[in-house]
Amino acid sequence: MKLGGLKSDEYMAVSPQGLMPALIIQKEHESGMKHLSESDTIARFLLAEYSGVGPSFQPDNPRSNQICRWHDVYLTTIQGCLYKPASRFPLGDYADRKSAIAAFKKNLKVIEGFMSDEGMYLCNNEVSLADAALFPTCIFANYMLPKFDDSEPPLPLKLNAWFDNLRKNDAVFSKIYDEIMGTLVTSWEEKNHRWDSIWLAGQRDLAPGTIFDKIIAKEIPASIVKEDDHILAFKDINPVAPAHILVIPKDRNGLTQIRKASAEHTDILGRLLVAAGEIANDSDLGFGDGARIVINDGNDGGQEVYHIHVHVLGGRKLGAMG
Ligand code: 5GP
Repeated sequence: MKLGGLKSDEYMAVSPQGLMPALIIQKEHESGMKHLSESDTIARFLLAEYSGVGPSFQPDNPRSNQICRWHDVYLTTIQGCLYKPASRFPLGDYADRKSAIAAFKKNLKVIEGFMSDEGMYLCNNEVSLADAALFPTCIFANYMLPKFDDSEPPLPLKLNAWFDNLRKNDAVFSKIYDEIMGTLVTSWEEKNHRWDSIWLAGQRDLAPGTIFDKIIAKEIPASIVKEDDHILAFKDINPVAPAHILVIPKDRNGLTQIRKASAEHTDILGRLLVAAGEIANDSDLGFGDGARIVINDGNDGGQEVYHIHVHVLGGRKLGAMG
């Protein structure tokens, strides 16, 4: 805060990603570095600098290093899916919040597999860098994952036993738990209502299902012309042009209509248009030299079915719009 907040020029000069934590080194250091960013870099600096003080944190333990590395590369890069607004999507390789959350959970499970089978800490009976790296992330996961899906426990079983034990029985980890939870509950949740506007936490798709859900579930027939994991395309039952195909997302994800679109939907909207372009190129479907791609929205747009869909129209020269 002394430097003016995470996005201030002064803070960015210390931590170019604008992220916490950052460390300012007060005395002249032999490496010439005046400040450090990234938690692992800071932790290793402190361990080397104060190697004679307190626990060693086992910087050379391969199990600890594997957990730290996996944590930093695969978990922290997507953990924003738990608390960041839509404008920050897509996240890494993951196109939407649902798939980022699924990947986050999968990587927690992978890390659980690296744990020692015995002892209070991740690497047996001695605290390591792995405990220090993973514990705060598990505070986030334990608190935030149930906001998105409370059908299963947020942490896998063995990891949860480790987490529970540390927060109850290790005074240092207990203190960290209380400090982080204090900020999350009082500042992030109660004061700033952070999750109210976040898709799948505060906001959900509560609109009724449509006939298109039945087509996706193959409960009613449709003349399907294209299908993959994300989209379905089929002939319109009431064609208004010689070639008339509808392209829909398999998971509506709140997109009853285009006016509900947010940054969360960037990936699926792109997929719908790419599929529409491919369909419009297909002469076997009756398309010739061009097509018209239309999305109707709401009453004025003449929308009948509230599951977003793209009309691909062609097969003859179409008249004026409107
Ligand atoms: P909207 O007016 O909502 O943009 O378009 C909905 C489209 O879905 C209409 O063109 C309508 O003919 C089509 N449609 C509605 N019900 C069915 C159905 O059960 N099967 C198929 N293939 N098309 C449908």
